[in-house]
Amino acid sequence: MDDRTFRNAMGKFATGVTVITTAVDRDVHGMTANAFMSVSLNPRLVLISIGEKAKMLEKLNQSDAFAVNILSEDQKELSMQFAGQIQKKREVTFEWLHGIPILNGALANIVCHVYSKQLAGDHTLFIGEVIDVVVGEGTPLTFFAGKYGKIANI
Ligand code: FAD
Ligand code: NAD
Repeated sequence: MDDRTFRNAMGKFATGVTVITTAVDRDVHGMTANAFMSVSLNPRLVLISIGEKAKMLEKLNQSDAFAVNILSEDQKELSMQFAGQIQKKREVTFEWLHGIPILNGALANIVCHVYSKQLAGDHTLFIGEVIDVVVGEGTPLTFFAGKYGKIANI
């Protein structure tokens, strides 16, 4: 199997889209990610997976804290911006919760302290202990077969 075939197979798993946000000395960095899952209720844990080439990796190693911002269907441009997919960048305003930056207008903001991390091939898995959440309204931005979409029947 080549890498493209692997990615094509993984792309058949439809996901939502998140932007991971963190800050080092109040300097905010964001990155689009769909490798996100809920892990445990007691304690409350979630997981994200960060590629070895991503600037986010060093930022998380320094900050030890992050937020997972689950995007709504009208936040596709933000996803593209935080994935480096568009040239025209817009200024993004962040709110702060427990000293961690979060994105306005997300379906949910999940604020975490790093609980543990594990190197896994060319990615690092970060498990976050959830210290607070904000639950918003709306319908999700989706990612399937390498394309953005939305859910038609909700
Ligand atoms: P950069 O590439 O330097 O930054 C990302 C972009 O965000 C840049 O355009 C930058 O201008 C912008 N940005 C950052 N901070 C700010 C700020 N404060 N204000 C305004 N703009 C800002 N990669 C993974 O490792 N794991 C995943 O789970 C994952 N899932 C993905 C899912 C999707 C749907 C897509 C499209 C990509 C995914 N990626 C994932 C790839 C990842 O989003 C890109 O490789 C990304 O460019 C890596 O970001 P970086 O940390 O290296 O920083
Ligand atoms: P794609 O066809 O590359 O993505 C389909 C699926 O493949 C993704 O949902 C993910 O599950 C998997 N995948 C893709 N790249 C991966 C990687 N480097 N490591 C582990 N799994 C990966 O979709 P696309 O539109 O070509 O993606 C846009 C860009 O975003 C690409 O550069 C891609 O590598 C990157 N991306 C990275 C991850 C990740 O690191 N986990 C996830 C999604 C997209």
